[in-house]
Amino acid sequence: MSEHTPVLIVGAGPVGLALAGELGWRGVACTLIEKTDGAIEQPKMDIVGPRTMEFCRRWGIADWVRDAPYPGDYPQDCVYVTGLNGYELGRECFPGRAQEKCPPQSPQKRERVPQDMFDPILRRFVGTFPHVRLRYGAELMSFAETADGVTAQVRDVATGETRQVSADYLVGTDGGASLVRERAGITMSGNPALTYTTNVMFRCADFPVLHDKGRAYRFIFVGPEGTWLTIVAINGGDRFRMSIVGSADKVTHTEADIRGALARAMGRAFDYEILSVMRWVRRELVADSYGTQRVFIAGDAAHLMSPTGGFGMNTGIQDAVDLGWKLEAALRGWVGDALLRSYEIERRPVAVRNVTEASSNLGRMLATRQRLPPAEIFQAGPAGDAARAEYGRWFTETMRHEWFTLGFHLGYRYDRSPIVCADGTPAPPLPTASYVQTARPGARAPHAWLPDGRSTLDLFGRGFVLLRLGRDAPGSENMERAAAQAGVPLEVIALDLPEVSDLYQRRLVLVRPDGHVAWRADEPPADARAVIDIVRGAGECATLVAPADAEAAGSAIHTVRGGRP
Ligand SMILES: Cc1cc2nc3c(=O)[nH]c(=O)nc-3n(C[C@H](O)[C@H](O)[C@H](O)COP(=O)(O)OP(=O)(O)OC[C@H]3O[C@@H](n4cnc5c(N)ncnc54)[C@H](O)[C@@H]3O)c2cc1C
Repeated sequence: MSEHTPVLIVGAGPVGLALAGELGWRGVACTLIEKTDGAIEQPKMDIVGPRTMEFCRRWGIADWVRDAPYPGDYPQDCVYVTGLNGYELGRECFPGRAQEKCPPQSPQKRERVPQDMFDPILRRFVGTFPHVRLRYGAELMSFAETADGVTAQVRDVATGETRQVSADYLVGTDGGASLVRERAGITMSGNPALTYTTNVMFRCADFPVLHDKGRAYRFIFVGPEGTWLTIVAINGGDRFRMSIVGSADKVTHTEADIRGALARAMGRAFDYEILSVMRWVRRELVADSYGTQRVFIAGDAAHLMSPTGGFGMNTGIQDAVDLGWKLEAALRGWVGDALLRSYEIERRPVAVRNVTEASSNLGRMLATRQRLPPAEIFQAGPAGDAARAEYGRWFTETMRHEWFTLGFHLGYRYDRSPIVCADGTPAPPLPTASYVQTARPGARAPHAWLPDGRSTLDLFGRGFVLLRLGRDAPGSENMERAAAQAGVPLEVIALDLPEVSDLYQRRLVLVRPDGHVAWRADEPPADARAVIDIVRGAGECATLVAPADAEAAGSAIHTVRGGRP
């Protein structure tokens, strides 16, 4: 038996589902296979970042995420304690998600929605597209790549029967142990074992009233040995996840260890039900390549990071959105050679940055193991109070990096992409905690509210958009002609709004289908076709000098060599 699909996606975790949804939304037929039945025994991710929410907004499902059953009034505090019935060392207060405001830089805010609520939302979204096939109980066994496509062997898990599926493109979103990555011969670099950690999901309806620290999202436990345990509120109700953080030394925590840890955290025995145990290795790895001509990897298949920071899935969904429009372009035939190649060039540096930051966050959480707490912080009395105040202040300040990360979520840029036309302006430093919006080519096009209540972000998504900004914006005829000649979908939108002009800083701004700025200028380009060719990956951009030098000299870093079809 054999079938054909334009894109075969392997692995229906959040990233595979997001890619199938993105392609479905673009009208591209695809097949998503998943070897399990889709049940999530232990939800991993629980923070849906603001950029992911912006994608959900574009897909029309932001309300579904907002309305997920994690209670809106559940405080999102992160609390540092010696024990739940011990001492509080510090606290970062955050309101429940219903009370949290959108940051001024975005029409969306992050949402606390764990994977067993978020995956079904993505699945429902995927299910709205009749041209997307989602098959559970279907496992990729092997594949072969040719110049024209891929032939995959897919096993029906229930019957054991194997069928052949041919595809123009194959994308492995098959997680950390990716078969697609392995069979494509792609290696990973970094640190394969930061910690051996044990996660335990437990049910305890009374949990918040068994101690005096109140309802909070996360408790981080500091003992004489430093940070040793965390407990997070998984569903804002009766389910919690305890993580015995562990270390780089391999230890297999037994059930007795687990029960001992819970009793130590509470300060006494209490009633609970263990729902599942997951022993896992925290890694710091990025794939050395993101694919070949016809085979790509995305999500955890391409990068594995410590959950400290909540970047893992969010980085993967950015991969899916970057790859989605490029696959559409390739299948519709308006693509140049550099377009699919730019996927790795754009996305790998973002992964390296996020993986590194996630490890730094882990280092901060475990800084208590270097600067061990003084014995007084575990003792009653004024000396203990003073020691707790000082140590708690330091740890609270140290941990703040992990909680304020807007620059990572919204501020990633594709400065060195071959399909972005640099404009010679100096690159601002990559943002971390805060984020100043920029329309510099390669950056996410900024958000501003429009008079009709939409965001500028609502203008982008399907094809390219050329913004003509200001009353005296130049004409766009040459760009429209060039795009039409090359078959590139282009919409022109004129806006005469001072706040938008201030943010975008040029009178003509070309925004890509993924919402990143591709080109901007005050005047129409002398060679509009050259610009269109660069942004569709047919312009063969070459970096004349190192980008940093070019930026320091205030000169453009790209030149076009031929490249017209
Ligand atoms: C404790 C913890 C907390 C986390 N918190 C966050 C967070 O708050 N925010 C965040 O962004 N990230 C977080 N992460 C990371 C996040 O969970 C992962 O980055 C994310 O799940 C990766 O999604 P994925 O779809 O790439 O891979 P996976 O979720 O691993 O999905 C891969 C899928 O592929 C399937 N598969 C594998 N091989 C095959 C095959 N041969 N054929 C068919 N199917 C196959 C698997 O069954 C699986 O369903 C956390 C991780 C952990 C461990």
